[in-house]
Order: sequence, then C-alpha cells, then structure tokens
Amino acid sequence: MNKGLVFVVSGPSGSGKGTIVEVLKEKAPNIGVAVSATTRAPRPGEAEGVTYYYKTREEFEALLAAGEILEHTEYSGNLYGTLKSEAEKVIGEGRDLILEIEVDGGGQVKRLLGDDCVLVMLLAPDAAEQERRLRDRGTEEEETIQKRLQKARSEIAVAGDYEYLVLNETGKQEECAETLLAILKAAHNTYPRLRCITDHYFD
Ligand code: 5GP
Repeated sequence: MNKGLVFVVSGPSGSGKGTIVEVLKEKAPNIGVAVSATTRAPRPGEAEGVTYYYKTREEFEALLAAGEILEHTEYSGNLYGTLKSEAEKVIGEGRDLILEIEVDGGGQVKRLLGDDCVLVMLLAPDAAEQERRLRDRGTEEEETIQKRLQKARSEIAVAGDYEYLVLNETGKQEECAETLLAILKAAHNTYPRLRCITDHYFD
C-alpha cells in the first residue's frame, strides 16, 4: 500500500521547476531523484552524476540499445533520458521517485506505470514572466533561448494531458512546493491507489 509512486514534474523552460523541486526535496524526506543522462554540455556549476550524467550521442544510443533507459526524448537538439538503474534505486527503497522531465517523457512514464505515476506541470503566470525567468538565468545563448521558447509553446499545448497544473507565482516558491507536497500526499491516500484496499477489503 505504501509503496512509492513516481511523481513527474514537467514545465516549460522558465517555469521554475528546478527551484521548486529543490524545495520539495527538503520538505519530503521520503523522496528520491533519478539523475538523468543527457547529451547536452554541462552548464557552469553543474556536475557529473549530480545534475546529469553527460554522454556523447554514441554513448547515449548504446545505453538505449542496451535497454538501460526507461524513457527518453530529443529536446532542443539534445537527447535526455531516465536511467533505469537510477529509478530502480529509489523505487527499491520504497521511496517516491521524482522525475523532472519534459512532456514527451512524462507521457511515456504514465503509459508504463498508470496509477503509480502522477503527472504535474508547473506554469509561470504568463509567457512574458516565463521568458523573463529563462533570460534571467543567464546560462543560454540567444539561439538556445529561442528554441526553448518554441518548445515551451508545444509543452503548453499539451498541458491538458496532465493531471495537475500548478501555478508557480513569482516569489511564492514555498506555496508552490507545498501544493506539490499536498498532491503527493493526496495521490498516496486517495482513489485510485486505495483501490487495492477495496479489492481485498473482506479477505
Ligand atoms: P535542461 O537542458 O534545461 O536541463 O533540460 C531541458 C528539458 O529536459 C527540461 O524540460 C527537463 O525537465 C527535461 N529533462 C531532463 N532530464 C530528462 C529526462 O531524463 N527525460 C526527459 N524526457 N526529459 C528530461
């Protein structure tokens, strides 16, 4: 009953999901992350095995061919994927697994796991604020920013496929993280997860 679930947090570049996931991790001790593999180059301050496992395209494709990747996608010209080994480590410990991945991957995980997966999308209040946050990060070239803004449009277009859309208002990260925590708790303690109780109620 109390086995962990997979909490997918998506959101366009500039939605602020990286920050929110960091706050959430402090609030929810029983949560673990899976460090993804990517072919994108590290940004300043990122570290191998902490932010991502940085791979060449050949290395990434070899992992895919070996069946070691749970879901993957191409995003702004780079490959990103969840490593099975990373996911299994957290799930094996009975903890909730948080996956900070884009919408394509979110859909793949939902199809694999069904009710054991919750899809949440974080949103900035509007496109202008989202772009401002993306630019303020100051880590991307203009060309990359444009690609990410374009990608954001397609992510917003499929927001309706997500189970929860959560507003990440400026300066209200605490509230936003609390909302995610409430969703996580609700997902553990309500239908459809409680179906396993009714299935065996009189056994
Ligand atoms: P960034 O380059 O900004 O770190 O990540 C770009 C996008 O890829 C973000 O939306 C991020 O959530 C997503 N992403 C990171 N890791 C994975 C992954 O393993 N799988 C998928 N599908 N998306 C990922």
